[in-house]
Amino acid sequence: MLAVCLAPLLWPLQHLAERYYQDELAGQNRQTLDLYVANLLGTLHRYETLPQILGDLPALRAVLADPLRLETLTNANRLLKDIATQTGAEVMYLMDANGNTLAASNWDKRDSFVGRNFAFRPYFSEAIAGHLGRFFGQGTTSAKRGYFFAAAVRDRDKVIGALVVKVDLDHTETLWGKTPEQLLLTDHNGVVILTSRPDWRFRATRPLSDAERAAIVAIQPYPTQSPKPLSLDPKAWLTQTQAIEETGWQVSILAPRTLIDRSVRTVVAIGGATLLVLMLLLGLIMQRRRHYMDRIDFEAHGRQELEKRVIERTADLEGLNSRLKSEVLEREQAQQELVRAQDELVQAGKLSVLGTMSASISHELNQPLAAIRSYAENAEILLDHQRTDDARSNLKLISELTGRMASIIAHLRAFARRDRHAPESVALQPALDDALALLAKRRRAMAVELVRDLPEATLWVQAGETRLRQVLGNLLANALDALTEKANPRKLWLSAEQRDGNVYLYIRDNGPGFTSQAMARAREPFFTTKTRTQGLGLGLAICDTLMRALGGELLLGNHPEGGALLTLQLRIAKPGATLPTSEDPSA
Ligand code: ADP
Repeated sequence: MLAVCLAPLLWPLQHLAERYYQDELAGQNRQTLDLYVANLLGTLHRYETLPQILGDLPALRAVLADPLRLETLTNANRLLKDIATQTGAEVMYLMDANGNTLAASNWDKRDSFVGRNFAFRPYFSEAIAGHLGRFFGQGTTSAKRGYFFAAAVRDRDKVIGALVVKVDLDHTETLWGKTPEQLLLTDHNGVVILTSRPDWRFRATRPLSDAERAAIVAIQPYPTQSPKPLSLDPKAWLTQTQAIEETGWQVSILAPRTLIDRSVRTVVAIGGATLLVLMLLLGLIMQRRRHYMDRIDFEAHGRQELEKRVIERTADLEGLNSRLKSEVLEREQAQQELVRAQDELVQAGKLSVLGTMSASISHELNQPLAAIRSYAENAEILLDHQRTDDARSNLKLISELTGRMASIIAHLRAFARRDRHAPESVALQPALDDALALLAKRRRAMAVELVRDLPEATLWVQAGETRLRQVLGNLLANALDALTEKANPRKLWLSAEQRDGNVYLYIRDNGPGFTSQAMARAREPFFTTKTRTQGLGLGLAICDTLMRALGGELLLGNHPEGGALLTLQLRIAKPGATLPTSEDPSA
């Protein structure tokens, strides 16, 4: 998969790298080629004019004039050897017009040219024809490759012989050295004459024509008469060629393609690795990016969800809030209603108490008034009978009664004034007696038997004198009311005890007792089982409130043997000043 992706990217890279290295190699090889050709031409040019110059030397011309004279021959041989040594030419030799070699620089060597005939070589015929003879060939005797320059030796206009200089070319081949690039020099036949690869030597790079084959056989430039073909794989070599016009040669440098292949492979490998790394990096970055985008999406989604929930919740809360507000408003209104109702109740209660009490009050005040009147009438009679002492005691009683009346009125005033005095010490028995006294007439009319079971010692309670008497009066009146519904015997029990820092006063009657409904609701203002004229339903409500104000309690209940049993729980108080107990005139 990855390879498939990489291939199209790497192919141009390989192409470019190949081009680059090929160009670079070509540049290098061109320089080498230029250098080699310049060197070769330099070598050849050095000897080019030599045959002409040598042909003018008298010592050599003398040989042509008299070839059989030993002395001139020896001179010529020595001279040629000297010059060859000095110029670096391989061989120099002098031929007569028939091609026989008369003198040579290698006259004293084993393979001496002297006496040999080279008329078959083209350079000879060219020189005789008056041109500069040029020829490449391998020496038939020396087996050394060389380049031959030949020029005619003239005596006036007549050609009398030819002078030949052979330049060693083996030497230029050895200069090449052991480089991977190969040298290939072909002659006009396309046959390899100089090369850095010995196995390519004297092989034909192109097919030879029949004429060329025949010429090769005739002039024998190569060691072989029919050169074998040399076929080079053009894909394996990078070839650069330069032609040398004057010799008809072609010099080529063949660089093996493997030279650049390795570099290209390295470049492609590095490129591939870089690409791979880049692709991996890209992949990594893309993956990161995708993760990042995913997370952003996820977070945005979460935020939206949260916002939605917040909006929903806010709406809920706002709804709840407005409901709460309206509820609070309703409550406040209800509270105000209640307060108003309570105020009205208190006021109504007070009025009612005053109303119900007015009868009792007038009765209470009437009682002492009646007593005062009878004491006064008695005193009058006593004074008439001169019983002044008795009259005085009557007057004293009158004075006491008026004091008591004043006290009652004072307390009533206090109640009407919204009595908020701190609880004082009140004696229970006298208060009870007072309350009983107010109702004594009615009780007796109803023939109610009073059973008193009170301790001798005065029970002191924390209360307000008037308020306590108010409560007691109410409770006793209720008891009498209840007893009217019952036939004789009617009974009223009064008892008290002192316990746990409290005084308990029990008021029991043998009437019908509280019905269960009355028991539950008797403390409610305006609850009554009586007719409207008889009851307002405020008595127990006011008693309960007053008792609470005194720090005590009013308990409603029925006695197991029938009838109501009311319990007054009051706090014990320190003994205080005793209010003079009124004598019950009706008792
Ligand atoms: P009222 O006397 O004007 O009805 P109260 O608040 O004093 O108002 O009494 C409320 C009710 O309690 C009475 O109507 C009555 O039914 C009941 N009740 C009070 N005292 C007694 C009692 N001693 N025996 C039976 N029922 C009573």
